Amino acid sequence: MKIVVIGGGLGGLSAALHLLKAGFDVQVYEQAARITEIGAGIQISPNASRLLIRLGLKPAMDRVGVFPQFVHQRRWDDGRTLQRAPIGKQVEETFGAPYYHFHRADLAGVMADALPPERVHVGHRLVGLEQKGGRAVARFENGASAEAELLVGADGIHSRVRHLTFGPEKPRFTGCVAWRGLVPAERIRHLGIEVASHNWMGPDGHVVHYWVAAQRFVNVVCVTERGTWTSESWTDKGSVAEALARYEGWHPSVRALIGSFPETFIWALHDRAELPRWTEGCVTLLGDACHPMLPFMAQGAAQSIEDGATLAALLAALPDDLPIALKRYEALRKPRATRLQQASSANRVRFHLHDGPEQQARDAALATSGDRSIANIGWLYMHDASQAA
Ligand SMILES: Cc1cc2nc3c(=O)[nH]c(=O)nc-3n(C[C@H](O)[C@H](O)[C@H](O)COP(=O)(O)OP(=O)(O)OC[C@H]3O[C@@H](n4cnc5c(N)ncnc54)[C@H](O)[C@@H]3O)c2cc1C
Repeated sequence: MKIVVIGGGLGGLSAALHLLKAGFDVQVYEQAARITEIGAGIQISPNASRLLIRLGLKPAMDRVGVFPQFVHQRRWDDGRTLQRAPIGKQVEETFGAPYYHFHRADLAGVMADALPPERVHVGHRLVGLEQKGGRAVARFENGASAEAELLVGADGIHSRVRHLTFGPEKPRFTGCVAWRGLVPAERIRHLGIEVASHNWMGPDGHVVHYWVAAQRFVNVVCVTERGTWTSESWTDKGSVAEALARYEGWHPSVRALIGSFPETFIWALHDRAELPRWTEGCVTLLGDACHPMLPFMAQGAAQSIEDGATLAALLAALPDDLPIALKRYEALRKPRATRLQQASSANRVRFHLHDGPEQQARDAALATSGDRSIANIGWLYMHDASQAA
């Protein structure tokens, strides 16, 4: 079966690698001039890393990845530990795959390098799409076209495939705005930041940071409610002074990290309403194109990686029945992705509570069992997207 994947992000790359491994004739079309990822950090939990490892990528991933030992949830002002849950050896032993932190470009590079170059077509921006006699025809801005028995839209939250297949619908601004920065290790050595995923929770905002790029940088993302910035570009420059002013009164370590940004980028966080279905004829969607989510479960990319694995396994099992394979794909993937969209939105409320009774109840829950305990996170980390198919 000839399959066209639109979009060479982490979701599109996962789909292409899994489909290729299953024996399909896959071509990837990406609008950018090269395959890379803008932005800095990405956390990849065992549910996604086991799939990438199975594709043979572990040696390359180990070279560029960082292995965090804990998820450390802290109070915004005094830095008190609310929960310190393991995601190191214990998680790897329990779930059979490690938790990684990457620089996004490193992970995209590892995945893209595993694809034969003749299967990746950069500089191809999809502008048109039609279905004729059980085939999809994609048209690109540069005048090229491609035909396939299956077209997979992996083209992100502003998906053109989604627009052309299901009609126009704009992503919604959530009201959350984020500053991000990448701090070189030598600037913050005195802070003694442990190799962990740190989450500082406070009124109307939270700050996440972790080491990336073999511990040469700390990736920092500062999220605030009621932002007025609505542009979603990953490359809009922000102001370090403005970010510092927003986190006035927060713990000195948080402020020191922000103050060490060589530069900062600002962007507005968007999401979309749940899409009733992902497939129309021989066109289907995956990743942010069909289930964008707030990043507060660190699962958007992981879910897009899972989508590709499940899709490929189902197509391999049902090569002569595309409609049934796509139906099962949606039936398997949609409830899990929707659950994570909802959990991400719920974390927005939990992470941003003002000090008071609700915050005290949250902190008490974190202190006793907590949402990151091995037992509570099993449903997420244990899932094997290929075998589920
Ligand atoms: C601040 C932040 C932190 C996050 N942290 C995490 C995390 O720690 N862990 C995690 O799992 N997820 C995280 N996410 C979510 C994650 O970034 C996304 O869910 C993931 O990148 C989606 O991958 P995708 O391949 O579906 O889409 P994208 O990454 O958006 O890729 C889409 C690709 O399609 C291309 N494209 C678009 N339109 C066209 C077109 N018309 N023609 C051809 N190509 C096109 C784009 O250039 C792009 O390369 C985070 C998100 C944010 C905003």
